[in-house]
Amino acid sequence: MDAIKLRHPYAPQSGEGQVYLPSSLPAALSAMDKDVLHFIDMNIEDYHPEGDELAIHATGLPDIPKLHNLVSEYSSKAEIILGGIVLENMDSKDVRALFPGVKVSGHDFPVPDATHASLIPFYEGISDENMKKYLENEFSLYVSNGCIYSCAHCGALRTQIDPLTGKSTFVKESYRDHSIVERDLSYLIERAQKLGLTSLNFYMSNLDVFQTPFVLRGFILSLARIKAKYPNFNLDIRGLTNVNTFLKFPDDELRQFVGLGLTVLGFGVDAGNERMQVAIRKKHTGGLRKTREAIERCLDFGVQPELLTIYGHPEDDNESIQSMLQFMTEMVETYQVTPRPHVYRVIPGNDEWGRNPSLAEAIVHDPSLAQAFDFTAEANSFTHPKLVDEINAAFRETCELSTGGSTQLLRAIHPSMSAVERHKVYEWNMGKYDK
Ligand code: SF4
Repeated sequence: MDAIKLRHPYAPQSGEGQVYLPSSLPAALSAMDKDVLHFIDMNIEDYHPEGDELAIHATGLPDIPKLHNLVSEYSSKAEIILGGIVLENMDSKDVRALFPGVKVSGHDFPVPDATHASLIPFYEGISDENMKKYLENEFSLYVSNGCIYSCAHCGALRTQIDPLTGKSTFVKESYRDHSIVERDLSYLIERAQKLGLTSLNFYMSNLDVFQTPFVLRGFILSLARIKAKYPNFNLDIRGLTNVNTFLKFPDDELRQFVGLGLTVLGFGVDAGNERMQVAIRKKHTGGLRKTREAIERCLDFGVQPELLTIYGHPEDDNESIQSMLQFMTEMVETYQVTPRPHVYRVIPGNDEWGRNPSLAEAIVHDPSLAQAFDFTAEANSFTHPKLVDEINAAFRETCELSTGGSTQLLRAIHPSMSAVERHKVYEWNMGKYDK
């Protein structure tokens, strides 16, 4: 089987694209016990088909245009299987219309469960030259997946509440077997050492790092064993969390986690005032006052805080947008937090997706329009029926608050744009990769 990592939507036409070792594609293939003969990262090399079976993973809607082109090119030459939560959360009829004759995870076969799968066989298939490139950059480490909360805007694997009946389908955070994560990470450290590296920089896959503290403790113990085994090797760990779960995590264990490499924590703030917290079901974070407390706690422990926020929810008004902008500005100026602003999108899996079937129809009709659903792109009248100027002004201002590590502002295409206008958007976005 050939396994493909798609070229980044904003990579230049030729040369190196985004260098990033993902965890979702290798985890899914390892869970399916697929023998990957050839892993091709189209950011690094061209694809010359070798097998008659091809697996491709989509990370988000902006991957759809390239995915659509690739499937159209190879569907008559190879059996293709596709995966990725964005496809899994789409309606089967839309998936079939976009990718006829192709097998898609969650529609034609169960979503692979990688809880007990090691990624080492997959890593072993990566050449030293490419592995060095990956390990010199931040990579994703699959530790857990799933979130118990049900924020309306979120398209991740989370608790769902049916907007019509109010019925909940609960999801709990589910960890990978710690011993397997420990083995995988030890393998990556030894591989890095052979390649002359003395540190690794990874992003934990957890949607909310401190959500299940009694299981997180097992992961921290794994890190402690790894540190004892490789005392001169450094880990730099970045994670995403909720304000409240972080604040409840005991001091002594947080200190141990920081000592083992936790260096950056991102907090999803997302709602500019109390009305918005209720509207998007984000009350569990404790609001802006608690966020300030979490930032101060981070700084006390030597951890760099990042604030992830979203402008342009359907329920936003100018007051909530301004309140969020003011808060972000104050946090950057007072505490030097890293601002990570985003612009709301209707995406598969969030509350609005099912209520707006015309968006899926538009993408099926013209797959290139999927680019417009990028969270770090400005709003336009296709993606936002109101407050476009207000959303973009706040988004731009927040992007400009910091020069290092913040969101790189992208532009979105619009169905009414000509080919020349779309090309200008592509040129603006080129090389701007979000972390
Ligand atoms: S807390 Fe984060 S991951 Fe969980 S539902 Fe809300 S936005 Fe999604």
